[in-house]
Formats: sequence, structure tokens, C-alpha cells
Amino acid sequence: MSRIEPKLFVVSGPSGAGKGTLVALARKRHPSLGLAVSATTRKPREGEIDGVSYFFLSPDEFKRRVDANEFVEWAHVHGNCYGTLVSEVRRNFDKGSSLILEIDVQGALQVKEKFPDSVLIFIKPPSLEELEQRLVGRGTETPESIALRLENARGELALAERYDEVLVNDDLETACSGLLRIIDAYERN
Ligand code: 5GP
Repeated sequence: MSRIEPKLFVVSGPSGAGKGTLVALARKRHPSLGLAVSATTRKPREGEIDGVSYFFLSPDEFKRRVDANEFVEWAHVHGNCYGTLVSEVRRNFDKGSSLILEIDVQGALQVKEKFPDSVLIFIKPPSLEELEQRLVGRGTETPESIALRLENARGELALAERYDEVLVNDDLETACSGLLRIIDAYERN
């Protein structure tokens, strides 16, 4: 009989590829899958809650934590700092269940170096045109932020080949089933 082994899954992809919605749906269907809350120097958006959406830190506080080695990985993304706290990874692993990190490509490659057994999953939008439409439709970003996110998307897409798995998020239900199949396959391996 195959055994379930807790794994570290890392999901990345361009801003607007639908990672957040996809991961939230996958976690509803696989409730034991833990999520690490990241830290960021970005200002909270309307409705975001400190300690739930992110730990919102000042640039000084973020730097203090970098210097104190409190991050598994961190990176500059779209003009702000984002990072995964060691304490968040520990908190989840102590529960004995798999953990999912939703982080950018620079962070994902740092995680793979530290944890070679981690599974990198890249979420692709159907096209760059579709990505732009989603970012505009989201209504949370300024035109400058959208332009920056689109420019960064090109660089991120070029790194997809360094990932263990690539999923196209065309239809949420199909992508969610695909993500759960990948998680299941690695947990049983
Ligand atoms: P947003 O500002 O839209 O919440 O996130 C912007 C980007 O930051 C996303 O692509 C997301 O994957 C990335 N991000 C979020 N948390 C982390 C983290 O802890 N580390 C890294 N490296 N990137 C992160």
C-alpha cells in the first residue's frame, strides 16, 4: 500500500495567472494542505488582513528579519520585498501535513536549492493578452503596476522550464483538478 508523505509544494506564475484563486480552491478540496503566510513590505489592499493575507512589515522590520536569518527565502518582487518565514514553514510541518508556498520564481528557485525534494509547480496564463485582461479586470492595480507586472511576466514565463510541473490555468475547475492530481501523485511517491 502506498504511504502519504508530506511534501513542500511551491506554486509560482505571473501575477494575474490565478494562483491565489487556484490554491484557495485546491485547499478547500484538500483541507490538510497547509499554507504559509508570507511577509511583505507592500501596503495592504482593501480587505487584506495582517497575519492572514500577509504579515505586513515596514522595510526596516523586513530587513531586521533578513539579517536575523528568519527567512527561508526572500526576493524583491514588483518593487516590494516578499519572503517566507522559517517559523511559518515549521508551524506547518509540525502538523505533519504537506505545505504549499505561493511565491515568485526567484523565491521558488531558492527553496528548491534548500529543499531539493520540494515540488515546483508553475501556473501559466493561457496567453499574455489574457493575463493583461485579468490584471485590468481585477481593479486592484494602477496602470504602472499592471505594466510592471506584465513586463515581469515575460521573465517569469521564461523560467517555467526549470519547474517540475507546468499547469495552464485556462479553466479554474480543470486547473484545480490538475493541481490536486499533481499533489496526490507526489504525496504517494
Ligand atoms: P501580490 O502583491 O499580488 O500579493 O503578490 C505579488 C507576487 O509576490 C506574487 O507573484 C507572489 O507569488 C509573490 N510572493 C508572495 N509571497 C511571496 C514570498 O513569500 N516570497 C516570494 N519570493 N514571493 C512572494
